[in-house]
Amino acid sequence: MEKIILIRVGELFLKGNNRHYFTSCLKNNILAALKDFSCRFSGTQNRMYVEGYELDEEAAIIKRLCCVFGISSISPAYKVKTEKQTLKNLCDEISPKQGTFRVTVNRADKRIQSTSMEIARDIGGYMLSRQKDRKVDLFTFDFEVNVDIRENGYSYVFYQKIPGQGGLPVGCGGNGLLLLSGGIDSPIAAYRMAKRGVKTFAVHFHSYPYTSELAKEKVISLAKILVPYCGEITLFVVPFTDIQYAIKENCPIEYMITIMRRFMMRIAERIALDNKCGAIITGESLGQVASQTMESINVTNSVVSLPVFRPLIGMDKTEIIETAQRIGTFDTSILPYEDCCTVFLPKNPVIKPKIEWAKQYEERIENRDALIDSAISNAEIIKLK
Ligand code: ATP
Ligand code: MG
Repeated sequence: MEKIILIRVGELFLKGNNRHYFTSCLKNNILAALKDFSCRFSGTQNRMYVEGYELDEEAAIIKRLCCVFGISSISPAYKVKTEKQTLKNLCDEISPKQGTFRVTVNRADKRIQSTSMEIARDIGGYMLSRQKDRKVDLFTFDFEVNVDIRENGYSYVFYQKIPGQGGLPVGCGGNGLLLLSGGIDSPIAAYRMAKRGVKTFAVHFHSYPYTSELAKEKVISLAKILVPYCGEITLFVVPFTDIQYAIKENCPIEYMITIMRRFMMRIAERIALDNKCGAIITGESLGQVASQTMESINVTNSVVSLPVFRPLIGMDKTEIIETAQRIGTFDTSILPYEDCCTVFLPKNPVIKPKIEWAKQYEERIENRDALIDSAISNAEIIKLK
């Protein structure tokens, strides 16, 4: 008797002609997720299998698979020859000794004469005869034993169904460039776009020596935590101090953040286009801070022509935190290192900035194109996998 892991595929089957593309994307992502394990992986359109692994690695493999977008659920299962008594014994052995249960049979092998219902009744009857404290309840059961009779003469038996991440396989939704700060929000923005199939590139602006080496390490740690969900991430760490000096010297302090963010967006767009990213992604949430009012967003948005995705725009902080805790970024996000946005922070940032004014102030920075070129060419590129 062999143990296998059965993977069910989520939304993919809805996708008509693109189905083949989505499936192959998912397969590649699963292979990448399993690269540290010795095991075999095979798959058809809606079902995929992991086999031939060491039993003591099963939990770790399942944990990895639970992060892969496109998987709807996962079941550790037993693979046995399709033979009546073997199936009965197995169902009895793996099931809890007490409680209400149902047996569900799926018979893909039509060479077998009995119907699914008949086989289920037969197995259920045997399980009842083995333990007096079990009771059949087809609707409100404590556990469900599933028997999947395949065409190849084998059956898969399981009673656990572990929920997967759902969503679409990363890569099938194009590339996106995330503005990654060290905060709570932007990693969650990456997670949510990855869930819709977007492959993550990231840019982080740092203001050395005002922001420390530790602040940069924190951002790298966050990107690493995202890798099981997002796959490989290319992170551009862009030096931002000179641009901040130039803004501080030339523009009114209340427009500091607005103009900084316009520079961030311009740089992000350049990096995005160089890396075939079709969108910029931020962790903004409407009204969270002065730079995230509708007016502020409009003024920063107006310097780029790529679409800007803000998957958290309608979320409360508490909802964002829940996700951060669930996927494991929260504890790192709250480490107390400075972000470049908090350097030269004005006491009263403008809440309703005007595009015209922002433009006028920026024109005072004569070498602005050169500053942007220099920031991009001095970016450090880090690949996380
Ligand atoms: P977060 O929790 O993601 O840091 P925040 O609530 O602190 O967000 P802001 O500082 O206004 O909000 O930043 C809004 C968005 O701008 C962030 O979600 C992120 O996408 C981007 N951002 C902010 N600072 C940086 C940075 N240093 N490098 C790259 N992107 C940044
Ligand atoms: Mg921040």
